Amino acid sequence: MLTGMAAFIFACAIISGCQSAEDEPSVPVMGTNIEDVTDAKTDITTEAAKVTQTEETSITETVTDGTIAEEAPETQPEIHTQPETEPPAPPEPETEPETQPAPPPVTEANNGGLPDYVSTTSKGYKIERIDGITYVDGIMMASKTYTLPASYDPGIKPDAYNAYFEMKDAAAKDGISLWIVSGYRSYYDQEIVYAGWVNRDGKEKADTYSSRPGHSDHQTGYTFDLNSLEQSFADTAEGKWLAAHCAEYGFIIRYPNGKEMYTGYIYEPWHVRYIGVEKAKKITESGLSLEEYYGITSDYADSEDN
Ligand SMILES: [Zn+2]
Repeated sequence: MLTGMAAFIFACAIISGCQSAEDEPSVPVMGTNIEDVTDAKTDITTEAAKVTQTEETSITETVTDGTIAEEAPETQPEIHTQPETEPPAPPEPETEPETQPAPPPVTEANNGGLPDYVSTTSKGYKIERIDGITYVDGIMMASKTYTLPASYDPGIKPDAYNAYFEMKDAAAKDGISLWIVSGYRSYYDQEIVYAGWVNRDGKEKADTYSSRPGHSDHQTGYTFDLNSLEQSFADTAEGKWLAAHCAEYGFIIRYPNGKEMYTGYIYEPWHVRYIGVEKAKKITESGLSLEEYYGITSDYADSEDN
C-alpha cells in the first residue's frame, strides 16, 4: 500500500507537480473544467482518479453548501493515511524504512518546539507565529524561510476555491479557459514529491523549483497551479489573462519573472496564491514579489547565500 501510494503521489508529481518546465508534459486539450483535464490524462492510475474525484466531490459539496466556516478544516481532527492506519501489509522491502520515514513528532501542543512570537518585518509589517504557523500582515507564509508544521493538513481552503471559480467564470466570459493542474499538497505528499526531484536532479537544482516538505506554498491550501507548468504559459492568451486579472480575484503570481533571488524559486507563471483582493492588488501594482513587498526572506537555514 505504501509503495502504491508513493508511486501514485510521485506519478501525480510528474503530471501535476510544481517543477521545471522541460519535464512537464503539456496538457493535451484545453479543457473547460477540471474533469476535462482528468479525462485527458488517461495514463493516471485508477487509484489516482478515484482520489481526485473524491476530493473534488467533497470540496464542491462543501462550497456549494455555502455554510462552511474558514476555521472548520483546522478544528477537525488531524487525519493522515499513515502506515499505522493501513491494514496489515506483506513484508516491506528493506529500503522501505528509508523512503518512508516516520512522521516527525510535531503536534499542535508543542508547535514543533517553536515558540509563538510577534515581531515586525524589515519594512515594518507585523509578523507573528501562532501554533507553529507564521503570518506576515495576516498572510499565512510557507517559503524557504518559513515552515508549516507537518501536522498542518487543511486541504484546499474554501475561500481560495470560491475565488478560483469566480475567476474561472470571469475568464470564460473573455473566451479564456482556466483549469487546475495541481492544488493542495500535504507535508507528506511534498516529502515524496521533493525526494523524487532530488533523486533525479540533485538537491541544488531541485531546490530551485520544488519545495522541501513543510516549506511548500501548496501546503497552505491557498495555492493552485493552473493550465500548464511551462514558462511558455506566460506568453499564451490564458497566461496573459491570468497575470492581468488574477489580483481582481485575490490571487498573486507567487513567483514572478526575475524575482528568483527574493522568492527563492524560478518564474512560475502558472502558480497563483490567494491572499485576498485588497492585498493582491497592492502587491501586484507594486511590481514587487511578496518577499520584497513585505521585507522578508526566502532562504533555507542551510543556504550558502544566506
Ligand atoms: Zn505550484
